[in-house]
Amino acid sequence: MFVAFDDTDSRRGMCTTYLCALLCEKLGVKKYPKLIRLNPNIPFKTRGNGAVAFEAEGDYEEIKKTVLKYVKKYSKVKDEKTNPGVVFIERLGSKEKKILREFYLRAVSELVTIKDAEKTAKKVGAEIHKFKNGRGIIGALAAVGADLPDRTFEFVAYRKRKIGERKIDSRSVYEMDEATYPDTFNNIDYKLKRILILPHGPDPVYCGIRGESPEIVEKAWKNIRPLEEIERTIIFVTNHGTDAHLRKKKIKEIKPYDCAIIDGTVVDEPIRMHGGHVFFSIKDSSGTIGCAAYKQTGDFREAILKLMPGDRIHAFGGISRYPDTLNLEKIKVLRLATLYEKVVPVCCAKNMKSAGKNKGYKCIKCGRKERKTRLREICRSIKLELYEATAGARRHLSKPLIRIKKKRRKQAA
Ligand SMILES: [Zn+2]
Repeated sequence: MFVAFDDTDSRRGMCTTYLCALLCEKLGVKKYPKLIRLNPNIPFKTRGNGAVAFEAEGDYEEIKKTVLKYVKKYSKVKDEKTNPGVVFIERLGSKEKKILREFYLRAVSELVTIKDAEKTAKKVGAEIHKFKNGRGIIGALAAVGADLPDRTFEFVAYRKRKIGERKIDSRSVYEMDEATYPDTFNNIDYKLKRILILPHGPDPVYCGIRGESPEIVEKAWKNIRPLEEIERTIIFVTNHGTDAHLRKKKIKEIKPYDCAIIDGTVVDEPIRMHGGHVFFSIKDSSGTIGCAAYKQTGDFREAILKLMPGDRIHAFGGISRYPDTLNLEKIKVLRLATLYEKVVPVCCAKNMKSAGKNKGYKCIKCGRKERKTRLREICRSIKLELYEATAGARRHLSKPLIRIKKKRRKQAA
């Protein structure tokens, strides 16, 4: 049978994945449980917006009793933003699988409601349990439906002490990265000099290592030297780093909270605003939309600032804080506009001065005039490539460039 739940964690500790680890041990789950991230733009998420699903073998009623007991015991139901949802499905036919897969594809990239989830649950014969408003059933159903044509794995270790700074031999993280990257990814942000595998909140997670296979994340963990006691570990199969949330869309079709890839032409020169955020807009045949590269995205903004009107790009991102702004995760530069700049002529070894509007130039030494304006093609310092937010600012779902490049290399070989 299928078991799934979501939204059992809170800002003040506890974690859906930890509860899943406890239950997988208790129920003797054999296959890797799924850890599924949903639309990162949805405002009412707890932290990571991760839901879990697994297949358990045994008596339906017994398993149900155990799961509900654990969820009640470990969920932070008192946190106002925690609204757990649990789903049980005895078996899935191909029709039901298809319905759930479609539901997942919507939940990962758009806004879906609790009502949508309830309707879907009815269609596939799922038993749902809602705690408080039960928003968690959305993620739970989506996690069962996630079929993961592209998938990655995450090794999660849980700590015995649940509070205080995580203690680790930092050098071992660099050694792990050296030994396993790029088959593991998002371990370290070298530009920000930050270790990314350790979370900071008051939750039971000690560290999470992401990679291409269960073997590689396990190998990576063996390189890590924790300086505190580890309670237990588990490996999840996930949609991390797969771009599962992004859909090609026309600007006109964009709705609040959507995740999208827009094929557009840069309209105005990007500008850096107060606070370091960079803004510009793009257009397609259906309309115009603003794009933002926030300060947190690091040197991604340097690439963005090199864009010019007329450049064609694929803009990858989500609609969140501002309903008319695409929050950029990465861009692919498809075509660079050919741009010219005026060349100031030289005379008597000096730059000539303007002789007035539309009157050309005049030499300040010998007085010679030159009416013709010469133009020079601007040498563009941005390439026809992909550019992405710095690792520390990357979304769980965003596919890192290293994964895209590696796949290309594989296909070429
Ligand atoms: Zn002169």
